[in-house]
Amino acid sequence: MMGKVYLIGAGPGDPELLTVKAARLLASADVVLHDSLVSRGVLEKISRAARIVDVGKRAGQKLLTQEEINSLLINYARTNANVIRLKGGDPTIFGRAGEEMEALRRAGIEYEIVPGITAALGAAAAAGISLTHRRAASQILLTTFSRDAGGSPMDWDCVTPTTTLVLYMPGAEYAAVADWLRGGGLSEDLPCVIVSGASGLQQIIRWTNIGRLASEERLPAPALLIAGRVASRQVKEITQSFWESKQQDSTLEKFQ
Ligand code: SAH
Repeated sequence: MMGKVYLIGAGPGDPELLTVKAARLLASADVVLHDSLVSRGVLEKISRAARIVDVGKRAGQKLLTQEEINSLLINYARTNANVIRLKGGDPTIFGRAGEEMEALRRAGIEYEIVPGITAALGAAAAAGISLTHRRAASQILLTTFSRDAGGSPMDWDCVTPTTTLVLYMPGAEYAAVADWLRGGGLSEDLPCVIVSGASGLQQIIRWTNIGRLASEERLPAPALLIAGRVASRQVKEITQSFWESKQQDSTLEKFQ
């Protein structure tokens, strides 16, 4: 029997942010391979009959290599109908879904992506900011500071004063992150917000700017940083008054 693999996004933490489809598939799973980022509340949605395998990282040490995870997925899919690869946020955003899909394709195993709410969106919602606020941003750039990401170097030319930059995996060295952002041409007073544990019970939000970033207290992982005009409290305030007035006058909709 050849099964199917579902690459499912678990969202940023709050189980209510799972899609209806993800919750339905988790409730009828045979095997679930999940990362350490997946919250306990989401894991509780998994069928009691399912085999649950934690393939995540612990204290910086990988429990399994990517190749080992690929082989596990393939082997489970050869003997089980519904195999789930459950990842924090969205599986395709800094989630190594590309490598897993490639391995599944090579092995002739059917797969399907079930998107999830990526951390950038969970963090923006937590901070009450609009990543594309019309008065402050024209584009969003999702990127990472992680040095082991193995990606290509950042193209700073595409970062403009109206770019909202979302930095996944900023690490614990905020001074290095600040230097890197300055090196890219971002100004000292550009607002930043650090969101730790977005949507979870331990959520922390810290408003700062590039100049002050180095001296900010390190927030627990997982955390991400949003840098850009939209991350200013002032814009947040404008946004709030906007929503308040919107309630009074629904014709304002066109300004959203
Ligand atoms: N696939 C995931 C990202 C995996 S990379 C997604 O789409 O969200 C892991 C990084 O995501 C973390 O280092 C952190 O920067 C970010 N992250 C994940 N969950 C988060 C959360 N609840 N709050 C803040 N950042 C989070």
